[in-house]
Amino acid sequence: MRVCKFGGAALRSAAAFRQARTIWEADAGRQVMVVSAPGKRAEGDEKITDLLYACQSAAADGRGYGHLFDRAAQRFREIAAELGLPAPDDDLRQVYQGLPGASPAWAASRGEWLCGRLMSRYLELPMIEPERVIRFDAAGRLMAEETLGLLRAEIPGPCVLPGFYGADGAGAIRVFPRGGSDVTAALAAAALNADACENWKDVAGVYAADPRLVPDARPVPDMTYRELRALSLLGAQVLCDEAVAPLRRAGVPLLVRPFNTPEAPGTRVHAGYGPERRASAIAVTGRAGIALRRWERIGGGGALAETALNAGLPLDRLAADADALCLTLRRPEAPPAALDALADRSWRLEHAASVSVVGEGLSRADAAARFTAALSGAGLRPLSLHMPPEGLYITAVVEEESFPAGIRAAYDAFLRA
Ligand code: ASP
Repeated sequence: MRVCKFGGAALRSAAAFRQARTIWEADAGRQVMVVSAPGKRAEGDEKITDLLYACQSAAADGRGYGHLFDRAAQRFREIAAELGLPAPDDDLRQVYQGLPGASPAWAASRGEWLCGRLMSRYLELPMIEPERVIRFDAAGRLMAEETLGLLRAEIPGPCVLPGFYGADGAGAIRVFPRGGSDVTAALAAAALNADACENWKDVAGVYAADPRLVPDARPVPDMTYRELRALSLLGAQVLCDEAVAPLRRAGVPLLVRPFNTPEAPGTRVHAGYGPERRASAIAVTGRAGIALRRWERIGGGGALAETALNAGLPLDRLAADADALCLTLRRPEAPPAALDALADRSWRLEHAASVSVVGEGLSRADAAARFTAALSGAGLRPLSLHMPPEGLYITAVVEEESFPAGIRAAYDAFLRA
């Protein structure tokens, strides 16, 4: 059996609901459908979740929220009408009336709830209420073991499960971080020991490089959980670690699949390659908008780095080599005063970017030499180069303006056939 999850983009309109149904019905093995709240229909459009957060904050400040709520309600009414379903007026009224005094989590969760209600009517399937199966503790942290047990006990067969939220022991609604329906899907797939967790998205899969920088980059056919995790940590916007960890633990493969072309294979994420796999890189990624600090180890640099870490600055990465410690910080999130305080005795670069090559098969013997040659061939000078002892990735820090050139040079050196 499979768990399949449809994200906001894959449920943004009635046409998208129809497409989701076609995909669902094409394979009887699909048993649990996890849904997000409808997302943007076009650039500049509003996500239902954002609208609901805005309603809650207006209601909490005693401002009117009717005009905001109407924009969300209209989307659900339109989808229902186009699908030939009755208007979800009772559900909408319930949400509208619940908003004064509601928590932000309750308000935001109503997007998934309304969407799940609509989908369950459309597919004529039961809907499981997430507050019964996704359990948080009083501090808002997921209680994974308890949740897995509840999911196993409560999911009887084919059903719709709204993503993104659950409840704590006192019954208060709690949400995962943004994009958290992916976590719900992973938990359901792990609990039911599914053959796969399918994540239907509006991209063709996980790309070997950002297609805005490398236009001919293709989706990677398959990769390991470790590679996906490294890609996310190093800058690629794929699934967050929380959304992969339950699958990894249960050994359930993740399929990132393109919603608009369901016949395309997308990307398969699994535990490991067979012995026939040739050693290689699978993707390049990176992050612009970071600041670099480098301390020579001689003269107390280590203590300063420790101060920086203890100050709770938005750490991007920490790399150590024989004579220096390098820290990269995510610039937009770093308070300027804190960045200044760190200037003391460090070598600094305010506008930096990291370029990384990822792959279980990267060879330690050759990666650093190949990467340095590629960057210098493109006229770039790596300001720090780091590869962890276990391999998996190699990262260079470059000047921010060289970021696109760095990504292209890395792609050409490691991935271009
Ligand atoms: N609707 C939520 C969000 O916009 C959760 C999700 O889409 O997974 O972040």
